[in-house]
Amino acid sequence: MEIRFLGGTGEVGRSAILVNDSLLLDYGMLTGNPPQFPVDSVDPDAVVVSHGHLDHVGAVPSLLSGDARPPIHWTPPTEELTRTLARDTLKLHGGTYDCPFTETELERVTQVSERHGYREPFEAAGHEVTFFNAGHIPGSAHVLVDDGETRLLYTADFHTGDQRLVAGTTARPDADVVICESTYADVEHDDRATVEERFVESVETTLWEGGSVVVPAFAIGRTQELLLVCAAHDIPCYVDGMGKRVTRMLRQYPAFVRDPDALRRATSHARFVTGRDGQRKRIVDQTAVVVTTSGMLSGGPAMTYIPAIRQHPTNKITMTGYQVEGTPGRELLETGRAEIDGRIMPVSAQVEQYDFSAHADHDGLRSFLESYTDATVLVNHGDDCAGFAEGLRADGIDAAAPELGETLEV
Ligand SMILES: [Zn+2]
Repeated sequence: MEIRFLGGTGEVGRSAILVNDSLLLDYGMLTGNPPQFPVDSVDPDAVVVSHGHLDHVGAVPSLLSGDARPPIHWTPPTEELTRTLARDTLKLHGGTYDCPFTETELERVTQVSERHGYREPFEAAGHEVTFFNAGHIPGSAHVLVDDGETRLLYTADFHTGDQRLVAGTTARPDADVVICESTYADVEHDDRATVEERFVESVETTLWEGGSVVVPAFAIGRTQELLLVCAAHDIPCYVDGMGKRVTRMLRQYPAFVRDPDALRRATSHARFVTGRDGQRKRIVDQTAVVVTTSGMLSGGPAMTYIPAIRQHPTNKITMTGYQVEGTPGRELLETGRAEIDGRIMPVSAQVEQYDFSAHADHDGLRSFLESYTDATVLVNHGDDCAGFAEGLRADGIDAAAPELGETLEV
């Protein structure tokens, strides 16, 4: 089997892996200014997508330019999320070099889409492919690829621990080669129940003191997780931004969430903000919790809520995800100020961070790989892939961290 790495090596973003020069696994983008895309142009016979995050699907519609119509295989939520993200990219960057596709190519996705559930093998570009639940976000999959000689397991993003929205991965299919993510190879997460307890206590304290809490959250996965937390602890909350649409969409696919009834209850527990008639202004004038995009304060209704609550130290901003360097969220955590809508604003409200990660940490990655001590492990999707691979080699595992553009024969 020949494996070519077109992106996502030594970095988190633009994941793209070409197998046997015919089967493409993921085709993402690296957000930033400017965004970056996988290297080389590709003309695959088929495409398999692991899950609906921008760094795995962001450039997928561009594969349908000209006469190219490769089938795209994914789970139903992954297809829906890809469309949502692509529409957002068109809205933000359409017609510029920062958007690698047009409305026309996005519309073609319907013609080539092939949906699959977990553990239902299918054929793609002459390979047998099977999805397994990866426990990262709804619809996320480990991808097993068998070319008749070699079995490749592409873990993509995964979590070994349970979240309220999705249960952790349990599948460990046999494989000769494993391409393993390493986003949090250097991190030990606190136990999820402990993180949740701290979050709930902090939010309840602020409400009791008469303050408002703005909870910036990624639209996909994180928003729903926090709505589930609020419902479970009976914390009244509003939800705003792209997370509203994603929440409604996920309700349509109960097979891909851990507890569909809990998601239904959380959805009716939360109040969906329409934003009409100055509603956002009224919300922050009362004692309230608002779960809203964007998770890193780079856009979305958070741009209205943060300026409205920032001046009062009774209020609180609770970051719930990793803050990439250079984002307003990161700046706020480090300096107590943030550039919101082009204006630098000092923030007197309390700012806190909670680790609601959807990725395995160091121990999670190592426990997953315990099932693959005889396999070749190729480490990608992390800031220090080489360091993690070195640690594996020290323990006798055949491991390497491929470089951008590298082709390996396995
Ligand atoms: Zn992901």
